[in-house]
Amino acid sequence: MKEKNFETIAIHEGYKTTDAQGSLSTPIYQTSTFEFSSAEHGEQSFQGETNSFIYSRIGNPTVQVLEKRMAELEGGEKGLAFSSGMGAISAILIALTKANDHVLCSTGLYGCTFGLLMMMKEKYNIGVDFSNLDTEAEIREKIKPETTCIYVETPINPTMQLIDLALVAKVAKEYDIPVVVDNTFSSPYLQRPLQLGCDVVVHSATKYLNGHGDVVAGIAVGKETFLDEVASTTQKDIGAILAPFDAWLLLRGLKTLPIRMDRHCDNAEHICDVLEQHPKVSEVYYPTRSASDIQKRQMKRGGGVIAFEIDGDKATVQRFLNSLAMIKVAVSLGDAETLIEHPATMTHAVIPEDERIRMGIKDSLIRLSVGLEHVNDISEDLKQALNTI
Ligand SMILES: *Cc1c(COP(=O)(O)O)cnc(C)c1O
Repeated sequence: MKEKNFETIAIHEGYKTTDAQGSLSTPIYQTSTFEFSSAEHGEQSFQGETNSFIYSRIGNPTVQVLEKRMAELEGGEKGLAFSSGMGAISAILIALTKANDHVLCSTGLYGCTFGLLMMMKEKYNIGVDFSNLDTEAEIREKIKPETTCIYVETPINPTMQLIDLALVAKVAKEYDIPVVVDNTFSSPYLQRPLQLGCDVVVHSATKYLNGHGDVVAGIAVGKETFLDEVASTTQKDIGAILAPFDAWLLLRGLKTLPIRMDRHCDNAEHICDVLEQHPKVSEVYYPTRSASDIQKRQMKRGGGVIAFEIDGDKATVQRFLNSLAMIKVAVSLGDAETLIEHPATMTHAVIPEDERIRMGIKDSLIRLSVGLEHVNDISEDLKQALNTI
């Protein structure tokens, strides 16, 4: 049989019903530990001579199905599941750096990723630089002899700016520097960084991968040799591992990822039109509406998140948010429910103001995660709230 399509992988990969008495649904192996058949078997397991499970921090069958499925969806060799997106991001960044190294990042970063890098800078003198990474010359200029990692978010949370992944990967390869991509906003259904030459993909699986707002989880996908090292060091010893029940919820969410993503995109495209035409909205940021052609080259569609600015200050934004009736004022994104938040005072409040403004996160910027409700209900709610300001 030829290679399976994305939709099929999202439903079947990594699990055989014959492994579990015919159970169609992947069993939840709700156990902390696993019995060895003998003392010798225990010894062999610890020496890595068998594939047996030992203890759920080191591996669990339900979690392993999720890891295999995610690896295949991203087109990578191996996947690792974590208890949160930050669990995945911290394990990868710590694995790729030591004291006095340097990390080159995209201009915008998720607030806690920024916070983590600042902590690593303070504790271990790991330098951090930010760049638009938009030309070969710019990337070369920012790479230092001690750079051991290029860390990219695209689309950038929350400004929706895009980074050309193939370009970054091409330059990084010349210097033998691994490129890590936070693929949370697109999911592998819309963007597959490993196919563009990047080395590691990380996710907040809390968002689109799960899609139902009921799990906090993280995923990393990349080369087997590298992720085996992460599994036996930063993942095992820091211990941000995913619980079996949460892995099961994620496996369930993944089955509908393709159809959910298409609907998120359909709704977001329509909402962009509504916002662009509204007199109270001054700017709309969405991948398919950006001036560059990067979206066409690396993203199948634009995704479900829109950033926009309204004419007004923080108080005006807060009045607008308080006027919404159906749309929920909440952080997170990628859920069935439409969620809206104010990055400057919420998700990105930890970033010092001058840095935040440089990243484009002004007081007038709003982030909207367009959900799966009927698009007319979403647009009516936005319009009535905009009309109150
Ligand atoms: C939410 C988010 C994270 C952090 O993930 P958690 O699951 O909340 O730990 C990282 N990156 C991006 C882009 C996010 O949106």
